[in-house]
Amino acid sequence: AKSMGSNQVCFYDQSMDQVARERSALAMDMRTGFDRGEFELYFQKQNNTMTGEVIGFEVLLRWRHPRRGMVSPVEFIPIAERTGFIMDLGDWVLRQACAEAVQWRNPLRIAVNVAPKQLANANLPQRIREILAETGLAPERLELEITESGIIADQQHALSIIRQLKALGVKIAMDDYGTGYSSLSTLQLFPFDKIKIDRGFIDSVVESRQSAAIVRSTLILAQSLDIPVLAEGVESAEHLRFLQDEGCEQVQGYFYGRPAPISDLQDVVNPVVDA
Ligand code: C2E
Ligand code: CA
Ligand code: CA
Ligand code: CA
Repeated sequence: AKSMGSNQVCFYDQSMDQVARERSALAMDMRTGFDRGEFELYFQKQNNTMTGEVIGFEVLLRWRHPRRGMVSPVEFIPIAERTGFIMDLGDWVLRQACAEAVQWRNPLRIAVNVAPKQLANANLPQRIREILAETGLAPERLELEITESGIIADQQHALSIIRQLKALGVKIAMDDYGTGYSSLSTLQLFPFDKIKIDRGFIDSVVESRQSAAIVRSTLILAQSLDIPVLAEGVESAEHLRFLQDEGCEQVQGYFYGRPAPISDLQDVVNPVVDA
């Protein structure tokens, strides 16, 4: 414990040590856990706002830790980014997701999250080309979700990689729209195929006039740029109604379904069709 002057004593140092220890324990477990097959893909539906029809899935990584139980990607992705393990992990997610989707009778699109470090790597387009060739997935069925933090460090480099990816035929979505610094200029500069409005705005869209205004103006802007918008975090009929009224084309959220293993979604990916 360190003295903070007057009578205060602070135990932060000790607890910070604990957090750091916890993090390095997770970092070490990650490689062995990966080798032991503890990582799994979950899939969350994306729906047409007007018809409710499933139009694709976002792929979300899960870690089934033998002692800790399910570890959230909110915890382990930042650690994987710091240690560099995200490169192997991200590569595995892409390959697994494409290998899974190619087996479906219903040729739905899959959206895969790409971490800033992956996007910064000049080999990403080549790697994706290989994965598409190995798995046989049609390029237009793969959408890569990138965040603003992935493109601000070196915009020109990011733009060049994104252009190469688009030349392969894959789609690019801007994730977490509205949470970055320069969302407007980013939209102008990068050839996005989709904008995903961050769920923080949808969460408060019914109560907060401010959130409603941000969502509305994003929809107007996207419309004028001719880019489809997906709203994340749609949890209720009220959320859905608002987005229907405002002309948002696509939604994703607990209202239509939580992320789930693909075995739970067979009715969607392999529907039984009447002869
Ligand atoms: P994200 O890319 O913004 O993913 C959406 C998150 O919102 C997911 O959390 C999803 O489960 C959650 N979500 C979806 N609908 C709702 C809803 O209606 N209400 C609420 N409250 N939440 C909803 P999840 O699966 O815990 O993932 C968290 C983050 O971890 C992701 O945020 C993404 O940044 C990262 N992540 C997950 N999988 C991967 C991956 O394979 N690669 C990378 N680089 N990052 C990943
Ligand atoms: Ca995402
Ligand atoms: Ca998001
Ligand atoms: Ca997010």
